[in-house]
Amino acid sequence: MIQSIVRTEKYDEELLFNAVCRHFETLKIADELKPEMKVVIKPNFVMAVKPEAAATTHPLLIKSVVRWLREHGINNITIAESSGGLYTQEHLRKIYNVCSVAGAGMDELLNFDTGAGPVSTRAGFANGSFNIINPIREADYIINMPKLKTHGMTGFSCGMKNIFGVIPGLEKPQMHYRWPDINDFSKMILELDMTVAPQLTLVDAVEGMEGNGPTGGDKKYFGYTFAAKDMYTQDCYIAKCIGIEPDDIVMLRLAREAGLANMDAVTFCGDEFTEKVIPFAIPDTKRLDFVDRVPGFLRKPAGFVMKRLLKSYPKVDTGLCVGCGRCAESCPSHIIRIKNKKAHFTKRGCISCFCCQEMCPMKAISVKRAL
Ligand code: SF4
Ligand code: SF4
Repeated sequence: MIQSIVRTEKYDEELLFNAVCRHFETLKIADELKPEMKVVIKPNFVMAVKPEAAATTHPLLIKSVVRWLREHGINNITIAESSGGLYTQEHLRKIYNVCSVAGAGMDELLNFDTGAGPVSTRAGFANGSFNIINPIREADYIINMPKLKTHGMTGFSCGMKNIFGVIPGLEKPQMHYRWPDINDFSKMILELDMTVAPQLTLVDAVEGMEGNGPTGGDKKYFGYTFAAKDMYTQDCYIAKCIGIEPDDIVMLRLAREAGLANMDAVTFCGDEFTEKVIPFAIPDTKRLDFVDRVPGFLRKPAGFVMKRLLKSYPKVDTGLCVGCGRCAESCPSHIIRIKNKKAHFTKRGCISCFCCQEMCPMKAISVKRAL
């Protein structure tokens, strides 16, 4: 596996374009593309937030990829993402505007087709098929463009987790409800990744998000972009770069066990990652997860007890809550009510997926333990 690394100090248009050129040259991307191909760029637009919040893929990096593609004769390009919340044209318009990809010279590439359809899975965990948004189903070549973040539920979000955004709108919380256990949810993500199988993953790690990602964390300067055709091994490598042991992240461990990620067979090209590690703060949900620190053979019995005693729940800061209802809209268990312009949660039925925290624009939801 070839891992391309380019020191990318800031979100400057020429600097980013130069980085894209170097990555694509290293990986010989021009050899794989033909003018008649439909190329789909899959960014991370998890919610409608400005690029400065470091929760979404930066529009200038996307623009650099589009420029490179156009200069290489590729004109059938679509930028497609199903963010959290509804998958409607109105919501997409808002996402594109706030994430600043609209008005950046790519408007005609932004997807407004809100259709989706079944795609057969390659493995057997998720009952044989996924419902996937149309542009991804129709793509000849997918460029996966995640943002480097820590994540309240999965611990880490990069190439593999970014693919979850091919599931239309509110079907994502339903999938959380169907697979509430992190092991099952991660198996589903791995199967979805194998089904979508992006040809290239280019990571926006100029600025990432640490702590309570994917939306409620803090901006963390990192200063690099990464690219590889093998997103599994790349995710493991980048996890190490931010101080996370890949095997501590269930989906990365599953990828290694499935033979998809192999850290022993990496050829590094481009700039040296001289820092070795730039540690990211881990999410509150993981910081409090004692089960992870229990020896392997005790995890099952310990996990059963710990899960009951130490299960984490969302907690609303009523001073910050503005009663927008996005948490209620995204809750797969339907246990959030908006009363008097404030969100009210019940513990009963909560599956600790933290979709509510992910969608809260006010950072009003934190994590607390039953004990
Ligand atoms: S908790 Fe956040 S998402 Fe929920 S209603 Fe309040 S502000 Fe909106
Ligand atoms: S309240 Fe929040 S954490 Fe609990 S099930 Fe609903 S979205 Fe998930």
